Amino acid sequence: MSSQTDLELLIGGRWTKSETSEWQSYYDPAMGRPLGKVPFSTKEEVAKAADSAAAAFDAWRSTPMGVRVGLLFRLKQVMEDHSEELAELNTRNHGKTMEESRGDLRRTIENVDVAIAVAYTLSKGSNLDQIAPGIDEKASKEPLGVFAVVCPFNFPLMIPFWFLPYALVLGDTVVVKPSEITPLPMQRVATLIKEEVKLPPGVFNLVHGGSEVVEGLISNSAVRGVTFVGSTPVARKVFKLAGEHGKRSIVNGGAKNSLVVMPDADVERTLPSVVSSAFGNAGQRCLAGSNLIMVSDAKKKMLEKFGRASAALRVGPGLRPETEMGPVVSSRAKRRVVSYIEAGLEQGAKMLSDGRRVVVPEHPDGYYLGASVFVGVSPDMKIAKDEIFGPIASVMDVRTLDAALEVINKGTNFGNMASVFTTSGRTAREFSREARAGNIGVNIGVAAPAAYFPFGGMRDSFFGTTHPQIDTVDFFTDRKVTITRW
Ligand code: NAD
Repeated sequence: MSSQTDLELLIGGRWTKSETSEWQSYYDPAMGRPLGKVPFSTKEEVAKAADSAAAAFDAWRSTPMGVRVGLLFRLKQVMEDHSEELAELNTRNHGKTMEESRGDLRRTIENVDVAIAVAYTLSKGSNLDQIAPGIDEKASKEPLGVFAVVCPFNFPLMIPFWFLPYALVLGDTVVVKPSEITPLPMQRVATLIKEEVKLPPGVFNLVHGGSEVVEGLISNSAVRGVTFVGSTPVARKVFKLAGEHGKRSIVNGGAKNSLVVMPDADVERTLPSVVSSAFGNAGQRCLAGSNLIMVSDAKKKMLEKFGRASAALRVGPGLRPETEMGPVVSSRAKRRVVSYIEAGLEQGAKMLSDGRRVVVPEHPDGYYLGASVFVGVSPDMKIAKDEIFGPIASVMDVRTLDAALEVINKGTNFGNMASVFTTSGRTAREFSREARAGNIGVNIGVAAPAAYFPFGGMRDSFFGTTHPQIDTVDFFTDRKVTITRW
């Protein structure tokens, strides 16, 4: 891509150039150069997108399920046909490796598959004849109307698709707001939805911007609910705002995940899992295992190998096939990670490998950092408590599983993921029961639920009652009960 692309809004089936005066560059982090500008939509544009979605709702909800499913099959096919191109855009705007982007695409499309698979069965109601003489009762599930889908930067395609296919197939209409940092992949999907899937105008709308756009969507009377994935401080705010406006919401927040390595763990199998959990996506994953808790003798067996494997990761542009870790998403993200390295050193942790030393000479302006590994970390240090969202692993050593669980359950109030590496079924069972996190891994470094399971999350990592992916069927429909006497 040589020329820069200034993004437009998709409102009521038409591309609209925003009239805003507020534009922000979005970047190729591998080169550290702008790819174009993203508009911060005006209040009127946000309202117009919500109105367009509301206007399309009646016809869309009355469209037979089979027709909607047919369109979703087309969406799946279009995404498959363009998957390599979409993966490349994902890498170009986010920085992650092509292999990681291809993985994102698989999970993205898997959510379309699952929405198709459950459309008929899970959206069906129930009935009971003769609840009283001559009286029958029926419960049906109905779509509600317009939903806002607000997304974070780190999975520009997969996270919108935790929600989008389910809302659409169930008869709701949507306004999607991608992250202003990585808006490019969804912009391309919007083009494909318009030109190749050919959803009716207004069923799918795209707006761009930041907090004001999100507030505008939530407070708009046409919007019935919001899905949000992002950091915990913003999640809290969105959850509260949705409540104030009487909107239903699914709100996923930030994370600080621990990987516990027991002394009986199989070192050779554990090693690649923990390295990729800590440093995959350059640590910018809500399921990143950024605290590595080594129990008793595990440290003796693992630490040196972990340090060597982390330092050996090949850092470079995500589009280069041999790259194992891409850049972080922005210069701001890079400064933030560096500030945590400094904080770790100030608080007395020692570095086994220092990612600040890594340079990628061909791309001096890219936002590169190598893998940093801290040892001698205690649970009260900032690097152990805060979500850093970058390639830093904090190694702690404790004597028992109970002590590891204490770090997980009391060290932070996040509860997104926790994993244990062990060859003992008993240890695994105890860990799964006691760790207060919504996604548990046993000998798995990134415990990301498949689309046909809900994506978990507890405590400060999740607000609401219904989780992303398959469980959204209940979120995107309402119950209606009809009692009949003839
Ligand atoms: P972010 O909170 O900065 O932004 C998320 C979205 O909220 C963006 O669309 C942004 O424009 C919007 N936003 C920002 N400030 C806002 C405000 N004051 N009011 C309303 N909207 C606002 O998050 P990010 O940096 O894009 O993404 C990284 C975060 O997302 C991390 O904390 C990560 O753990 C989290 N995340 C969580 C999950 C999960 O499932 N729990 C999954 C992926 C990412």
